Amino acid sequence: MFKFSLYVALLMFAAGSSIAAPVASPLELLVLGSGGPGATGRAGAGYVVLVDGEPRIMVDAGPGTFVRLGEAKLSLAKIDIVLLTHLHIDHTGELPGLFKARAVSGDGPVNVRVFGPTGHRGEGEEATFPSTSHFIDLLFGPDGAYSYLRDFAAPMTINATDIDASTHAPKTPKVIYSESGLDISAIAGHHGDAPAVIYRIDYRGQSITFSGDIDANGIDNLRRIARHTSLLVFNCVVLDPPGSRPVLYTLHTPPKTIGVVAADSETKKLLLSHLSPSIDQQRVSVEASIREHYKGPVVFAEDGMHLQP
Ligand SMILES: [Zn+2]
Repeated sequence: MFKFSLYVALLMFAAGSSIAAPVASPLELLVLGSGGPGATGRAGAGYVVLVDGEPRIMVDAGPGTFVRLGEAKLSLAKIDIVLLTHLHIDHTGELPGLFKARAVSGDGPVNVRVFGPTGHRGEGEEATFPSTSHFIDLLFGPDGAYSYLRDFAAPMTINATDIDASTHAPKTPKVIYSESGLDISAIAGHHGDAPAVIYRIDYRGQSITFSGDIDANGIDNLRRIARHTSLLVFNCVVLDPPGSRPVLYTLHTPPKTIGVVAADSETKKLLLSHLSPSIDQQRVSVEASIREHYKGPVVFAEDGMHLQP
């Protein structure tokens, strides 16, 4: 009798342990594209953030991310938030393809919220950028290039919100989305003449912060919003001076400064992404330079990489 009950108990224990579903991390990051703007074998910038295991948020949509999303076999059906760090092609070029994929991913109406920077009218040598709402209108509005998408596979509504990315923008992070414990905040970044936004996603004690492409003028804001973040995704394009072309330093942050910012903000984990071939070729010295100041884990991104904060 005793042996039989023990046997049953063991069986129940084994069955119980085998059916227990793995607990999803509150936040998880899928790297769709870790490269750009050159066609180097990596997709352009793009990420999916999973909330409680569900793909909910897309951050940037560079060329090649469409294929990577398919390879990851993730459903688009719950993606309802898109965060654009800036409107350069290597961060937004795949948006139409991804939105059409989103439109055919389910059977109900589709509502997507898009956040991105305000526009900029360039003077002299500066380029002009539309605001994010104008950009979305140029693509999907009534007179837009892809206006047909609004009623193609399902009724689709795209609501765009412009985040102040001007030189007068507030220097404190602003909450742009808050629902069921999921908070997204934003602050102006700086990427040459392209208006840029830094985002931070917080959920159940974890957070992921996205620097976007950022030069020295955006660093103080990044330090503010990244305070104690679990995972900082830092775009890493240039080598420490004078290793890269001078003009690139007006657009990007070198490894030494990346290390200083990650250390100052007490970032728990650092993911280097948007990797240029020169960074790839000199990973050892790049990491050594970052480690002069930052002592936490440093990871180089790859397309298709899954990461928990
Ligand atoms: Zn870029």
